[in-house]
Amino acid sequence: MCPAFRPRSVAPLRYSRGLAQIHDRCDFAWRALCGRGNIKILMQPLRVTIWNEFIHERENPAVARAYPRGIHQALADAISRESGVSARTATLDQPEQGLPQAILDDTDVLVWWGHAAHEAVEDRLVTRAQERVLGGMGLVVLHSGHYSKIFKRLMGTGCGLCWREAGERERVWVVNPGHPIAAGARDCIELEQSEMYGEPFAIPTPDDLIFVSWFEGGEVFRSGCTWTRGSGRIFYFSPGHEAYPIYHHPDIQKVIVNGIHWARPQGRPADVPRNVAVEQAREKLTRKGPSVHDAAGRVASRSGGA
Ligand code: ZN
Repeated sequence: MCPAFRPRSVAPLRYSRGLAQIHDRCDFAWRALCGRGNIKILMQPLRVTIWNEFIHERENPAVARAYPRGIHQALADAISRESGVSARTATLDQPEQGLPQAILDDTDVLVWWGHAAHEAVEDRLVTRAQERVLGGMGLVVLHSGHYSKIFKRLMGTGCGLCWREAGERERVWVVNPGHPIAAGARDCIELEQSEMYGEPFAIPTPDDLIFVSWFEGGEVFRSGCTWTRGSGRIFYFSPGHEAYPIYHHPDIQKVIVNGIHWARPQGRPADVPRNVAVEQAREKLTRKGPSVHDAAGRVASRSGGA
């Protein structure tokens, strides 16, 4: 029942026809929402796992000053301020590189930050994460994660770009203000110090381009892009060089939080293959031709010879 209205039996005297019509519509919408199992999704916090290789923060003094507890913890602190979000962290040095199957299965959106140790990430972990994305898990890839194995695997391209580390100004321009990931963002986000990432960026054409960055040295870059792979949504956002405290910037935090919400699973995964027996067809059907499948729908094996 719609919680905004009391039942007619409770307040019959003050229930006008107009109010009853509003109630009926609202009640119908509420029941429809609940009836499809969506209430479970609405009630559960969004389960976010922030993965970080966690290397430069422990080896480079400038990075340690910006992120004394690691980039992953800075992001987790910002994301955890959101209601309805449950954030955990995972790092490369943990068992199974921080992402055993049980953690991935318990993750709605995976956030990925890596730079120095892309090659250390095991291919079987990349495959596990890829399968989860294809099955509906969201993926938010940050900054140098453009060269991570998981991002390159899902893009299917080299994902290279040009870069310069000069502490120059970056303006992150919003080019798609109606997109949910840009919600609440101003015309542009000004970063006093950033690493330049420049075009050409070797990615497939994004489904949506939301941010384009300009750098003091003159380059431009597609800094906020989305794709869908299988049933999973992917958001790439480039600001976040580890030598500068970019993830403490409230506007950058807001974009990442928006990206996490946008990337949340959208429903049943599409890639669930199953054989539909002739007898189970929605309309009465008889087999009309030869088949290469057995009764269970398996492809018949070759019986000798080529
Ligand atoms: Zn960087």
